[in-house]
Amino acid sequence: MNYKESVKTRRTFAIISHPDAGKTTLTEKLLLFGGAIREAGTVKGRKNSKHAVSDWMEIEKQRGISVTSSVLEFEYDGYNVNILDTPGHQDFSEDTYRTLTAADSATMLIDAAKGVEAQTKKLFKVCRMRGIPIFTFMNKLDRQGRDPFELMEELEDLLGIRSYPMGWPIGMGQSFSGVYDRHEKKLELYNPKNPKDIDVIQLTGPDDPKLDEAINDEQLVAQFREEIELLDVAGDEYDAELIAKGELTPMFFGSAVSSFGVQTYLEHMLTLAPSPVPRESSKGMIDPLEHEKFSGFIFKIQANMNPAHRDRIAFLRITSGKFERGMTVKHVRIGKNMKLAQPTQLLAQSRSIVEEAYAGDILGLFDPGNLRIGDTLVEGDTFEFAEMPHFSPEHFSAISVKEALKHKSFEKGIHQLTEEGAIQLFKTYNRFAEQQIVGVVGVLQFEVLEQRLKSEYHVDIQLDRLPFTFARWVVGPAEAFEKFKKAQKNLVTDRDSRIVALFENEFQMRTAQEKYPELTFHENSFFK
Ligand code: GDP
Repeated sequence: MNYKESVKTRRTFAIISHPDAGKTTLTEKLLLFGGAIREAGTVKGRKNSKHAVSDWMEIEKQRGISVTSSVLEFEYDGYNVNILDTPGHQDFSEDTYRTLTAADSATMLIDAAKGVEAQTKKLFKVCRMRGIPIFTFMNKLDRQGRDPFELMEELEDLLGIRSYPMGWPIGMGQSFSGVYDRHEKKLELYNPKNPKDIDVIQLTGPDDPKLDEAINDEQLVAQFREEIELLDVAGDEYDAELIAKGELTPMFFGSAVSSFGVQTYLEHMLTLAPSPVPRESSKGMIDPLEHEKFSGFIFKIQANMNPAHRDRIAFLRITSGKFERGMTVKHVRIGKNMKLAQPTQLLAQSRSIVEEAYAGDILGLFDPGNLRIGDTLVEGDTFEFAEMPHFSPEHFSAISVKEALKHKSFEKGIHQLTEEGAIQLFKTYNRFAEQQIVGVVGVLQFEVLEQRLKSEYHVDIQLDRLPFTFARWVVGPAEAFEKFKKAQKNLVTDRDSRIVALFENEFQMRTAQEKYPELTFHENSFFK
């Protein structure tokens, strides 16, 4: 296979969902199809499970949850698939958002009984901002859930995205009988006694009498036919362009736990999802199909992968070209060459050494501390990819060191952790006594921070929770901005000295926005 063909077979995506929607289950099933694991249950350490695969940190072990995200890769039907796994727990972090910047598409997994939930909404917004295609998998159809039309409406109302059902369910919960594939006109029959045994019947269309034979429930079939007709008449048309822009989401129905509808979703998704997409850089768009020289950027840094070795792993998304083990690349920010000697691809616990990889793939680089989030590595021509955005933290604490003598180690430690992206560090603006403020997306990061400063830097810290829940990067014309800076309370600066306003609640935030209509309040630092 030549270079271009190798790139074209790559699919790199993330699954976004609210905790408990079934992401671990779906991921396991996908890996099973890919033959990457033999038995479900080995992907992520479940509560009380022995397979604590990515639960490598002490804190994760104690809580039985997974804080960090890893990368899973497998081959299926000629495709090289990379799943960027993001933590599904409530206490997720900015890492979750940042991981999405390395994905070319996303799959939004929704519990059909619950509909769109808080965390899905937040993650969706990030995908929207990037304009990547979003696929939807409505899960848990084996249980009574909400009406599919209602779910479609909810996507539109809460997320502002229209949907195109690729399949349509027949019944739900007790009466769940199968899913009809609108494109292939295939009927997959659900057998509750043995869900793995899926009968597939080729129909000529929804009116095919074979459907009546197969389902044998007049009312259910009549309802299904009515619904399909309604979809055909009143639903959105299939539009590949809108799908590519993330404005129309192809929707699938199934039951991850029964592996039902998963393969159909996987096959359609792989066909429709893009191969590695071009990315903006300081020298224009870098299209992996045109630019055959290696380039990539760091989207995540994970410390302590192996507590015995204290190593850090920097995750690099290859954006163009081919990686070969031992190659030398330029670290653009510091202007030095760097040898990529021992990168790993991370599938669960077995870290295998990678010999070669292509645009779309993710490498884990062992790093003694030279790499930062957002760093660009290139071969040949020098350019940099756009800076990695910061997202509004939701929890804030004033931070100080308990023993003044340890100040230096403290500064070094929080600097390091800020670079890894676990926390954001702010300074109070225009206040007599400067105070450092830590902001995190998930509250668990405070504990991680405390523990890591203690174990790695031998520093005890004092964290005092502050009542803020929103941070907004404020910009605007000079006059209004000066007025705002003088009058507004609770201003801080970020590490690039940009002005950020902190608010306790939406009401406060709206009041400020109404008072200063000329100013823009950005939800993340992803603005020019
Ligand atoms: P995560 O938090 O999103 O990773 O969710 P899990 O994969 O851990 O699933 C949460 C719970 O939902 C578990 O008890 C699963 O067994 C269950 N679950 C997942 N998929 C399905 C499904 O299709 N049907 C039903 N009934 N339960 C499911």
